[in-house]
Amino acid sequence: MDLDISSYLSKAIETYKSPSQIARKVTESWARDNLYCPRCGLHLHPYKDNTEVYDFYCSHRSKRLLLLSYDKDDFQLKSMKSFPRNRFPNRIIGAEYYTTIRSLELGAFPSLILLHYSLREKEVKDGLFIHRLSFNRNNIVRRKALSQLAIRNNWVGSEIILDAVPDLGKIPMISDSEILPKEEVMYRWAAVESILKGDLERRSWIGDMLLVIDRLPSTFSLEDAYSFQHFFERNHPGNRHIKEKIRQQLQILRDRGYLRFVGRGRYQKDTALSPQVLP
Ligand SMILES: [Zn+2]
Repeated sequence: MDLDISSYLSKAIETYKSPSQIARKVTESWARDNLYCPRCGLHLHPYKDNTEVYDFYCSHRSKRLLLLSYDKDDFQLKSMKSFPRNRFPNRIIGAEYYTTIRSLELGAFPSLILLHYSLREKEVKDGLFIHRLSFNRNNIVRRKALSQLAIRNNWVGSEIILDAVPDLGKIPMISDSEILPKEEVMYRWAAVESILKGDLERRSWIGDMLLVIDRLPSTFSLEDAYSFQHFFERNHPGNRHIKEKIRQQLQILRDRGYLRFVGRGRYQKDTALSPQVLP
């Protein structure tokens, strides 16, 4: 992986005029040549322009995974030239709202690749994979229609709320112009797949529990988790057994290796999987 984008930039400037087209071309071709699939480690393949809603895919045809799986992962690239307050944005623009919700329900929602680049420094500065399993309905909100045309055509835009994605699902591969070890990225990707298993409904409970745990210290009690009861009630209206569900999610997260019971009703996070935990 090489963070230098100067050759891509000079090529794109020859063909394109608009700054947004140039930026799109630069980051797309850089990603094609430099990024790897976080699951199997091979190069990502680009979809042909305008044929798919996704940008890249991988069929995981490495020798190690060949016998395990033939399925395919899709990725969508979101590139941005500036970050608010020097961190990844809290929310990004998604596709049409109902199409997006349907793709979530069908399990076709792609993993995201967020790239932060600087045209002035001719360099990719930050990069983040967001695993598709870490998205649920609570991450997607409707946008207000911005034009009369959109209103007439019943077109509803969406926003993807990245703040509502648990830390587990956000896996940096480049941070502040530094390339992070590929093994670490792949280890964390595999951890998401073993922890966020199940259908959309089950995953949304686990995802909400992970979000709560992100806000708790590295060791916490059952009471600490219960103090977020209102959050669960809001996200799962009509459920009358919230405390029971909270206990169940903690149990699942223990069984899947994300948490440990450390006695006297206390839980401890696996710090290898949550590098952003509070001290
Ligand atoms: Zn792969």
